[in-house]
Amino acid sequence: MRDGHIHSPFCPHGSRDSFDKYVEKALRSGYRTISFTEHAPLPANFEDPVPGKDSAMSMKDFENYLETVNKVRDLYKTDITIHPGLEVDYIQGYEREIRDFLDEYGPHLSDSILSVHFLKGESFWHCIDYSPEAFRQAVDDFGGIHSLYSAYFRQIRHSASADLGSCKPGRVGHMTLIRKFHHLYPSPEGWESMAEESLPLIKCSTMELDYNGAGMMKEYCTEPYPPSFIALKAHETGIPLVYGSDAHTAKGMNAGKELIRQDLL
Ligand SMILES: [Zn+2]
Ligand SMILES: [Zn+2]
Repeated sequence: MRDGHIHSPFCPHGSRDSFDKYVEKALRSGYRTISFTEHAPLPANFEDPVPGKDSAMSMKDFENYLETVNKVRDLYKTDITIHPGLEVDYIQGYEREIRDFLDEYGPHLSDSILSVHFLKGESFWHCIDYSPEAFRQAVDDFGGIHSLYSAYFRQIRHSASADLGSCKPGRVGHMTLIRKFHHLYPSPEGWESMAEESLPLIKCSTMELDYNGAGMMKEYCTEPYPPSFIALKAHETGIPLVYGSDAHTAKGMNAGKELIRQDLL
């Protein structure tokens, strides 16, 4: 019983729910291990493309976040294992900045995730899970949904194979996040093989896969990231899957659990 992907009051686009609230919910849900994986500060020279610039924790809050998670970990250590971690963005072209950050702070983290939220189009950077409108703009900027998907899965592959130093996060985050609005903007034909192509690279880099229930709760997605046929394939490839609620509220924990194949965990 483990949840490897939980946000915190340090998330600027999340809720103010306290760490205690998350941990109490975890205990009530029967978890033995959880990871707080707040959005890591973005590289200083990268401009957050979302209007509120609130995709990630700011650098000035970061040390306080680490201290607070460590306190919570120690406070509950007889009841539950709590990992201090981060959800780190893989951003193409910023590998050096990401590696420098991880070299410095990675030793203080024990379970982190590497995710792709940002893609560079013809004219702009896009945050692909921000809103249906922003997704639409990304489709236009990429010249169609096929190019957008193919760029997304290329970044997933790059994230798996990138050299981000010895503290590279050990798990690929929500590998089919690009499907968040697929009921509005249907996925292009052949997307399944684009997604599956990244599995050998994930295996090869000995990373795990975030089996993320949050997509289940999104009205235009209604499936986990990744959906079960890909989760099964990952499992058969020998990639360990770790359930993640991606909760941004204590209430959001256990998201999508009923559709997660427990036998693959
Ligand atoms: Zn978030
Ligand atoms: Zn994420």
